[in-house]
Amino acid sequence: MGSCAVGFLCDTCGQKFSIQNPLNLCPECNGLLEVQYDLTAMKKSAACIGACRRDKSIWKYKDFFPPVSQENIISLGEGQTPLVKSVYLSKKLGLENIYFKNDTLMPTGSFKDRGFSLAVSNAKQLGVKTGFTYSSGNAGMSFGAYASRASLDALVLVEYNANSLKKAVIALYGSKTVILDYDNFQQISTMLEKAGKELGLYQFVNFINPVRHEAMKTYAYEIYESLDRVPDAVFQPVGTGGGIWGAWKGFCELADIGIVDLLPRMYGVQPETSAHFKEAFEKGKKTAGQFGDCTRTIAQSIASDSPIKDGRRILKAIYDSKGAALGVSDDEILEAMRDLAKEGILAEPSSAASVAAMKQAFRKGSIQSDDTIVCVITGSAMKQPDMLEKVADFSGIHIHANIAELEKLIENGLC
Ligand SMILES: *Cc1c(COP(=O)(O)O)cnc(C)c1O
Ligand SMILES: [Zn+2]
Repeated sequence: MGSCAVGFLCDTCGQKFSIQNPLNLCPECNGLLEVQYDLTAMKKSAACIGACRRDKSIWKYKDFFPPVSQENIISLGEGQTPLVKSVYLSKKLGLENIYFKNDTLMPTGSFKDRGFSLAVSNAKQLGVKTGFTYSSGNAGMSFGAYASRASLDALVLVEYNANSLKKAVIALYGSKTVILDYDNFQQISTMLEKAGKELGLYQFVNFINPVRHEAMKTYAYEIYESLDRVPDAVFQPVGTGGGIWGAWKGFCELADIGIVDLLPRMYGVQPETSAHFKEAFEKGKKTAGQFGDCTRTIAQSIASDSPIKDGRRILKAIYDSKGAALGVSDDEILEAMRDLAKEGILAEPSSAASVAAMKQAFRKGSIQSDDTIVCVITGSAMKQPDMLEKVADFSGIHIHANIAELEKLIENGLC
């Protein structure tokens, strides 16, 4: 079987375009493009979900992606991460079925690898030789790794306030790395939206690149395979919203193909200091605008004060699924990092935000005790070592290597 994708459809003007073109925004109206699939063909290819578990990457589902032939697949074994059942928080909250989709175990340490494996492979397929992305850190790392393997000439504009480790790794992977200064996110999105049209640069930024978020559908497929059902609620940290939009599209496909008949509630999580989706959601608006200050949070990877374009897709996923847009504070995030550590999972602040939001939703009564809940853990705490050190309760006591000192330690009740 081959790709079931049939073309791009523009959200705004409704025009269709060939899937064989390396497109970013709509060539006619600069609107967002979305990949369309042939449902009958998908039903015929549905065996890729559930059955063969040997292929340990997202490429098991390649019929449900835009076309990429075997020789153009750039893969590092991304995806197929464990769905870990909670032991600590479930007891603490009295919620039996909390799960963590542990994407800290991805090749470059974040869930971005799903999207870049697909987008870089598809770009190779279509003959794209150079490309760029904007990044708050993790996207640049992931793009760097996959672009290097594809011999694609990569430029990364990385936010000035990303931590220095991420910047160094982007350069190490081989991307041209430029620091991006800005006053608010609106400036970045305006620059990106114009870049394709005015400079003819191929981009890998979520949504402007219409292929990257297609890989996030694999969240839905994998979670379904692990649980043999869809969850009642999914908590997803939201930056651009590529992750939540793709995951929602994947769940909807499972229903359209006839594999499941329920859909989860999708909860989009942002730092409360710049929660523009939450602001729009609470007012019942269909689009989001600028809100707050995105520099005032430790959750760097999801800090943005305005959407790419108008954020319509993210809000639609949240409304259609009967979920919610939530905002969390730095203190709630730090507490969630400690909770997750007790589960054995090291999450960077932006990923722990999903757990912080789940706890908040539970306090507000929007979760039932028998709900099956998935918190998506998008990136490893190793990526933000300063925050990891901040949450750790490390006393620094030391002893010399002799039996007497060890004995004293035991006498003092330390072990
Ligand atoms: C990029 C990122 C997000 C946000 O993803 P979007 O698809 O932009 O919404 C969340 N968590 C981490 C760790 C990230 O790197
Ligand atoms: Zn258009």
